[in-house]
Amino acid sequence: MVAHYDYLLVGGGLQNALIAMALAARERPPAVAMVERGGHLGGNHTWCFHAGDLPAGAGRWIDPLVAHRWAGHEVLFPTLRRRLDVPYAAITSTRLDEVVRARLGGGVLLGRAARVVEAHRVVLEDGEELAADIVIEARGPGRGPGGGCGYRSSSASSWRSRGRTGSRSRS
Ligand SMILES: Cc1cc2nc3c(=O)[nH]c(=O)nc-3n(C[C@H](O)[C@H](O)[C@H](O)COP(=O)(O)OP(=O)(O)OC[C@H]3O[C@@H](n4cnc5c(N)ncnc54)[C@H](O)[C@@H]3O)c2cc1C
Repeated sequence: MVAHYDYLLVGGGLQNALIAMALAARERPPAVAMVERGGHLGGNHTWCFHAGDLPAGAGRWIDPLVAHRWAGHEVLFPTLRRRLDVPYAAITSTRLDEVVRARLGGGVLLGRAARVVEAHRVVLEDGEELAADIVIEARGPGRGPGGGCGYRSSSASSWRSRGRTGSRSRS
């Protein structure tokens, strides 16, 4: 029998981890599975951001990922030193892996690579097939025409993404 989910997230990097956190924070969390070919989520990164970088309300689901937090920081140049009293935070891969795995529970499939990614179907390298209402592909840069993250629309050959230059859509 083919397992069916509301969302199937292909790739366990930062993009799908943030999507997973936002979905898990819903009043009625949908059924989510995440497929990652590596042995843990998030690779090996430290992501930093200013408190003001986040959209309103996002702190609710991003805060659990924060490993370090500072009330402000100093910027140093050869002839200039400035203190910025703006809250600053860092997310580490280790923390992200721990928190997202706890949120998704058995929905995280580690050490499983996707071979075929379509609008509502994913086939893994070992031949297992998974199905979902929405498949979100974020297997790293360069996968779709816009790179980065995207989703498959109802025609398997059609790809929609948000690239660096704004929203794009191609068939
Ligand atoms: C505005 C901005 C700020 C940034 N700031 C920082 C920063 O401060 N520090 C920093 O380190 N980086 C920074 N980055 C870079 C950032 O780390 C990357 O953009 C981010 O990690 C990309 O995440 P991703 O999920 O798209 O891809 P990736 O991190 O590449 O994750 C893709 C995942 O998919 C998995 N995968 C690949 N193929 C398959 C397959 N066939 N089946 C299953 N899984 C597969 C991979 O193993 C990987 O885990 C920044 C980027 C931006 C745009």
